[in-house]
Amino acid sequence: MADSVTCRICNDTYGGFATLPQDFGGWYAQVCNVCGPIGYSHEAWDDFDVIIGRDSDRMRRAALAHLLSNADREGEQKFYFLNREQLSAGRETLSLPTPSVQRLNFIRMIGDHVLKEGQPFRQSPDTVARVGAFSNEAFQALHGQLQHDKGLIRVSDNERRFDEIRGKELWFSSFDLTLDGWDLYEAEKRGQEAGHYGFVALQFGQPILDSFLNAIGPGILKETGYELKDVREFSRAGIIDNIMRDQIRNAAFVVADLTHGNKGAYWEAGYAEGLGKPVIYICERAAFNAADTRPHFDTNHCTTIMWETGQEAIFIQDMAATIRRSLGMTSPRPAST
Ligand SMILES: [Zn+2]
Repeated sequence: MADSVTCRICNDTYGGFATLPQDFGGWYAQVCNVCGPIGYSHEAWDDFDVIIGRDSDRMRRAALAHLLSNADREGEQKFYFLNREQLSAGRETLSLPTPSVQRLNFIRMIGDHVLKEGQPFRQSPDTVARVGAFSNEAFQALHGQLQHDKGLIRVSDNERRFDEIRGKELWFSSFDLTLDGWDLYEAEKRGQEAGHYGFVALQFGQPILDSFLNAIGPGILKETGYELKDVREFSRAGIIDNIMRDQIRNAAFVVADLTHGNKGAYWEAGYAEGLGKPVIYICERAAFNAADTRPHFDTNHCTTIMWETGQEAIFIQDMAATIRRSLGMTSPRPAST
């Protein structure tokens, strides 16, 4: 297309092209064929190169493109808005996923697509960014290994298609999972292949809960090999609010604290249940028993583990047993360091 420009976030890594920036009163709107629709505040637009960097910071821009291309754009919020404060806050923590996580991202993308559409996943301009590989070459190395060494995917003949944004024909591949690939897909959905942590959904700014979680964390890690983390520990959060969804997807299980009736915690638990992740509900004993703070009835059928300051040791035993049962672990898993 004549009226497209190189995307300043992803062109040098993923070759993205974007529409000409349009001024919508304080914001520039631009649609990239890799990053998707992006809104820049004028300050973010002007200072982008200074904040996110130029040539030496390709990795950082690739990581930003990875976040944007995976951002959930369902519903009303089509554009992701970047302002200078967010970019400054997030710049030090932008990084691409490890090859092991890239592998899971790709298996998940193929499996989700095949289950929904009933046909192989066709590579599109944003595929490499969504997987989180650093370059096309790195992506080819990854899918080559998944195909030839691991036997997890099948790659069908490359297909030549017209790329509208770039205005020329390009080669694309189609991908499907082998039976072993489907086993991994399902195991990952259940949380067995996911990150080595449990995601804690909770209400922030609750000192009693915070100190309780700090007290039990090491014990849970020792008993199960899993660390408990909440969104504050993923400092990438500065850039995009719902990067949290990524953290839930990559978690082995989710722990939802219902003590404070936090709507976000219920939402996060429901999202995890929808993904087939084990969800473990916890609640402070006094709040659970009081009429006005009792958890929402929909969670009544779920096992809820009670916590109480001073009863950390008992809680650790209950919680560790529940985690092991949920993940189908037969014995404590050694902590990986
Ligand atoms: Zn882009």
